[in-house]
Amino acid sequence: MALRHIAVIGSGPAGYYTAEAALKHWGEDIRVDVFDRLPVPYGLIRTGVAPDHQTIKAVSGRYEKTALTENVRFVGNITIGSDISIEELQELYDAVVIATGAPHDRKLGIGGEDLRGVYGSAAFVGWYNSHPQFRNLDPDLLGETAVVIGMGNVALDVARILSKTDEEFQGSDIAAHALDILMQSKLKRIVLLGRRGPHQIMMTPKELGELARLERASPRVDAADLPEEGDDAMLEPGLRKSVNHLRSFAAIPEHIHADKPIEVDFDFFASPVSILGNGKVEGIEVERTEVKAGRAVGTGETYTIPCGLVVSCIGYHSANIPGVPFDERLGRFANDEGRILNGLYCVGWARRGPTGTIGTNKPDGFAIIEKIVEDMDAGLLGRGGKKGRAGFDELAQGRCLDIVTFRDWKKIEEAEAAAARDGSPREKFADIEAMIRAVK
Ligand code: NAP
Repeated sequence: MALRHIAVIGSGPAGYYTAEAALKHWGEDIRVDVFDRLPVPYGLIRTGVAPDHQTIKAVSGRYEKTALTENVRFVGNITIGSDISIEELQELYDAVVIATGAPHDRKLGIGGEDLRGVYGSAAFVGWYNSHPQFRNLDPDLLGETAVVIGMGNVALDVARILSKTDEEFQGSDIAAHALDILMQSKLKRIVLLGRRGPHQIMMTPKELGELARLERASPRVDAADLPEEGDDAMLEPGLRKSVNHLRSFAAIPEHIHADKPIEVDFDFFASPVSILGNGKVEGIEVERTEVKAGRAVGTGETYTIPCGLVVSCIGYHSANIPGVPFDERLGRFANDEGRILNGLYCVGWARRGPTGTIGTNKPDGFAIIEKIVEDMDAGLLGRGGKKGRAGFDELAQGRCLDIVTFRDWKKIEEAEAAAARDGSPREKFADIEAMIRAVK
């Protein structure tokens, strides 16, 4: 059998599960190059998963196992679309799989969104997770109120990170620049804004339960917002557990709230209308809603929440790549079960949008390899004989591209571990130049 070459663009969970599936299928007969625009691997495991959820990050051990096999290679610091085009990659590899996730914030589409102090979650989470693109965000946390829009797990992450004490960050790898600002925070109230009701939250029970165990913050739910208890029976079990948490938050006695300096306030049936302020956010105008047939419908009643920070956690969209069909409405690559064009595929959030857990990417990665096998068997991907990584290396040399290898990454990892403050696993480099310096 001829040797086959696959290029995977993106080294997050979707990328590495795809590489793992390719290895499982072809064994010795496959070469996989996993590209990333950053000099470091693992995508959202590194810069998306909350810094105080280290056990979740341990899954990168599995990706490392794949990365260290002879037939899989990490090619960091290369941007597809500018350093090398998709067409060039397709010339070199039998199949190209886009696993670039959904790195851009979805817009709210309301006035005031561009005011200072209004951030999307990709930016805000990237800031406290040392993403080089967002390290200079410097949010102002000196106001008393922050509004976090959305009722998903990302909104929960943001509310929790805004609430924690220095001690509660022990063992986390939160960026030092973010910890400095968080520890000077004057926040007293964090409003979680949900356009629908308690039965429509996207928060999972384990993550929601954490809110009740915070040192200096307590969650507040207005019992009047909760549906009849009997109605919970129709919910799927995970959501039922989450709603149980909301019910227990509603029962927290006033003296407990009074003991904690920060309140995390669930504001249900509240849809953002516009963000107010002069140069900088000063408040958010919200419309009361009712849920009709599952949808939020405005009642016409509006009110304003004065605040100095807004973080919008309403989802993401993929970044398009020149020459690749893109579905603007859905914010992801136009695809049919992962097939974009002949020999060009997508996987993970780039295929299905920003939903599901890290684990959802595993069947996704395996499924896309099945499609590639089907297409190869049908003779759609040629007979092999492409140049693969040797061809890429030739091209990279000609263009003086500064590739970061997996071995280089291990040096960066070592330097990050060495720079860690006491009790922390690492202090991540937040700029690309520092990463590259650690390699040299
Ligand atoms: P999500 O779960 O889809 O939640 C998005 C929230 O934003 C929903 O409550 C949605 O309300 C709301 N929303 C959307 N558009 C809105 C608008 N225009 N105005 C007001 N609200 C709006 O997304 P996510 O929180 O970004 O999470 C993405 C994925 O990552 C999820 O699958 C999540 O579970 C996963 N994740 C998991 C963890 C973890 O397991 N620890 C941590 C972080 C993220 P509607 O429902 O009304 O649309």
